[in-house]
Amino acid sequence: MRSGSATDHIMGFSHMTTLIINATIVTLDSRGAVIANGEIAIHENTIAAIGERGELQPRFAQAEVVDANGKIALPGFANTHTHFQLLIAKGIYEDLSPPHRPPFKGGLAPIPTPDLTPEETRIICQAAAIEAIRSGTTAVLEDGMSIETYADVLADSGLRYLICERVWDRANAQIGDPGPFEQDRSLGQNTMQKAADLHTRWHGAADGRIEVGLAAWAPDMCSPDLLRQLRKLQDDLSCTATIHLNQIWGEVAAIQSHRNLLPTEYLDDVGFLSDRLVCAHCRCMDPREERLLGQCECHVAFNSAIAARRGLSPRIADLERYGCNIGMGSDNMSEDMVEVVRTGVFMERIRREDGCNPTPEDALRWATVNGYRSLGIARGGWLAPGNKADLILVNTHSAHMVPMLRPASCFVHQGQPSDVNSVMVDGRWVMRDRTILTLNEAEILGEAQAVAERAWTRLFKAQPGLPVPPGLMPGLQSAATS
Ligand SMILES: [Zn+2]
Repeated sequence: MRSGSATDHIMGFSHMTTLIINATIVTLDSRGAVIANGEIAIHENTIAAIGERGELQPRFAQAEVVDANGKIALPGFANTHTHFQLLIAKGIYEDLSPPHRPPFKGGLAPIPTPDLTPEETRIICQAAAIEAIRSGTTAVLEDGMSIETYADVLADSGLRYLICERVWDRANAQIGDPGPFEQDRSLGQNTMQKAADLHTRWHGAADGRIEVGLAAWAPDMCSPDLLRQLRKLQDDLSCTATIHLNQIWGEVAAIQSHRNLLPTEYLDDVGFLSDRLVCAHCRCMDPREERLLGQCECHVAFNSAIAARRGLSPRIADLERYGCNIGMGSDNMSEDMVEVVRTGVFMERIRREDGCNPTPEDALRWATVNGYRSLGIARGGWLAPGNKADLILVNTHSAHMVPMLRPASCFVHQGQPSDVNSVMVDGRWVMRDRTILTLNEAEILGEAQAVAERAWTRLFKAQPGLPVPPGLMPGLQSAATS
């Protein structure tokens, strides 16, 4: 295990007692308590007390006082499915999706993402962390390849993470390819070893802000042997696992062709379903698969924004009714959890043909309380004494937020990431008054833009036959067509 000392001296980090006063507190506790002009005392990494105006100040006379007048205090968001490296696809992949009907070729887009050097990967991941912080995220499930390359970048960002190294053993194919399953045992063993090594080195690092789980890529990328071995490793390490599940119709066709089952049935058949499994997407599903997931009390990452962009929609109401715990994720291209929450409400209302449900509070609970539960983080995701001090302050003095009469509704229906004023993780401010304290934002965003332009230019020059997405910046366009 790594010590957290490397991150302890970062600017703005110090353990102390903080007293937030004059906040509109949306606790998202089981009673749905909202406190006007309330106070929150934070000692070290824990919420010590929550009270009415003036109630806590005498008890915490030595605390640093933060006046949150005009601001809403909420638990921070847990993004339960993302890939920080795939921020590189922003601006390219939003309008590219695989078909919903045969013929299926495999892959999520007709253009691959460019290969990045380790240094470029680290810059893109830092830019992703900045976007996550700015949209009020406090915890992240990162599903990635070679996470060791950028695990220190994640730790230094100040956020809380469950990092899951991707494991698979299907060679010469992409997700959603119904062609033959070519098993590559050494690929399976190598990726599994990498996942185990990541656990050894990073689980519990950065004062416990970093936890390590396991990621199976997708049902059609993993053999039954590999899934059984991975499940055994999950039990041995006593950790959370994740998988892309029923993501696209090509995956369903592939599993039917390889296993003569539906994807969720296949996972059930090999014993992979459990109440410690986070299933991302769950869109292209039969109702009997939804029931199966519910019976096993699986967690679902409702990735609303990317689902909408793909023209697909999971039946969240049914999954929840059958017993699944619904969390929310951003998946590729964006880390904007404000967009994810609002899109989730909109999508479900359209699908249910119900103009009242889900409520803003339902969606906020998915993105906070349920998200923390998905990540296996006890005592987090709602504001209560004894819970982890992971919270955000949201400004309400803006044209789109006034009048603010129902705080939860106002933020879900009208809020923007730019309203997020401050973010606290584990009792430490990661962002204060819209300044990120853990990362050099201006420098990183400039570098990330340069990395993306360079990397996509490299790819288009190396593979001149690739279809060029319409609307590309003129410089990149000419690189792609020269
Ligand atoms: Zn994904």
